[in-house]
Amino acid sequence: MAPTIVWLHNDYRLRDNPALFHAAMAGPVIPLVVWAPDEEGDWAPGGAHRWWLHHSLTSLAVDLESRDSTLVVRRGDSLDELLDVARETGAARVYWNQRYEPALRTRDLKIEAALRDADLQVKTFQSALLHDPDEVRTNAGNPYRVFTPFWKKCRSIIDVASPLDEPAFNASTDLPDSLAVDDLELLPKIDWAEGIRERWSPGEAAALKRLEWFVDEAITTYDEDRNRPDLDGTSMLSPHLRYGEISPRQIWNGVLNEHPDDEGARSYLSEIGWREFSYHLIYHYPHTTEKPLNNRFAAFPWSDNDTHLKRWQRGNTGYPIVDAGMRQLWHIGWMHNRVRMIVASFLTKDLLIHWHEGARWFWDTLVDGDLANNTQGWQWSAGSGADAQPFFRIFNPVSQGERYDPDGKYVRKWIPELSELPDKYIHKPWDAPDDVLSSSGVQLGADYPDRIVDHSEARTKAMGAYENLPRN
Ligand SMILES: Cc1cc2nc3c(=O)[nH]c(=O)nc-3n(C[C@H](O)[C@H](O)[C@H](O)COP(=O)(O)OP(=O)(O)OC[C@H]3O[C@@H](n4cnc5c(N)ncnc54)[C@H](O)[C@@H]3O)c2cc1C
Repeated sequence: MAPTIVWLHNDYRLRDNPALFHAAMAGPVIPLVVWAPDEEGDWAPGGAHRWWLHHSLTSLAVDLESRDSTLVVRRGDSLDELLDVARETGAARVYWNQRYEPALRTRDLKIEAALRDADLQVKTFQSALLHDPDEVRTNAGNPYRVFTPFWKKCRSIIDVASPLDEPAFNASTDLPDSLAVDDLELLPKIDWAEGIRERWSPGEAAALKRLEWFVDEAITTYDEDRNRPDLDGTSMLSPHLRYGEISPRQIWNGVLNEHPDDEGARSYLSEIGWREFSYHLIYHYPHTTEKPLNNRFAAFPWSDNDTHLKRWQRGNTGYPIVDAGMRQLWHIGWMHNRVRMIVASFLTKDLLIHWHEGARWFWDTLVDGDLANNTQGWQWSAGSGADAQPFFRIFNPVSQGERYDPDGKYVRKWIPELSELPDKYIHKPWDAPDDVLSSSGVQLGADYPDRIVDHSEARTKAMGAYENLPRN
């Protein structure tokens, strides 16, 4: 029987993988990955992405080998490689799970048409989301721009079907030429990834283990702990979701099977709902990766200050909660959600630097960098997105730190030079008397930077810029 090519992209798992499952039902399967970063347009994978991808593909290749299957790895133009592999193996069908990023959606539609023209049968599946973004519409048939009604609608039409089992690869086929994952040279030439390596284990098995831990140990306190960067209170499943090592349906079922009526579980699933909302937005408003959803912000007078940008990127703003977040990001490729909101508010409102700069930096440094979530997170923070936080709600980095990192544990972990400061000053070292600074071993301006701007002055300036924007 002619084999089926399963073109894997961003769905590096065996379980609950509809393309793989249905292909295996039809006969022999050729699991194929094509490394084609240029096809991702302006959002080609950054350094941290590539690190994760290397390990995710390695893990998938090992999992497939242990089931008598083989991951075929190619590099080049996706359509050319698909056609070549079909020619080399006599494949009659190509299956894949859909992607929703604007450049990839356009590419995949073109590839689908070209494969059909070449007499190949094509089937695509929905597995990255709980809902097809086209399925969720207002009663008037429009896309949503506000989260609460969006999520209410989603919950009313949700597909709660059980996740699919992993497929049985019980028919063999001749394999085409393949590169090794190492040949893709995704790992950095200079090894900067030590902190990332120590913190993360990419791959399907690690994703399932983390979900199990979270559901057993942390979900019931999620609602209270999720805003606390000093606690291990969130699932940290974001990079696993980003690479499709676990599906949202597996999470949905895994959570509800154990905690059908729990407040923490409900709160957690609504965060999965925010992920659905981000994809809904990027699908219906693809221009938002570059342009504000709220057009009023097109005229915002962003500042072009490279020195400020570099100090923000490196965690040297002089505001401890901001710097702790940026240093956490640099070291482990991830940052707590509350702190992402604080650093994003700081960049766009205290420093008045365009959210594009923040989104780009996150894209290069996050292991979970996801075009939908990143775009939505930055637009929301800058005040220009759907259901955005109003511009005038400007996070105060001191009170945010005191509220969500009350003992300064998070700041002390990422800024060890402040570790001896008393709790009272940990979020505002500039207020500490000289004798306290010197007994804590801190010389401001030498061991730790002076504040880059005064927050209350910056706030006034930001409000002025906002007030001057044309009304919609
Ligand atoms: C400026 C900014 C940029 C962001 N960039 C990204 C990004 O590139 N990739 C990314 O996955 N998330 C991004 N987020 C959303 C959020 O910060 C992360 O999803 C979350 O911190 C991941 O940690 P977790 O898995 O422990 O989350 P949990 O609290 O355990 O949540 C579970 C899952 O729900 C989803 N989720 C949670 N919060 C949000 C949210 N606010 N918006 C959309 N989905 C959410 C994620 O998939 C997450 O893994 C961004 C947020 C902001 C404010």
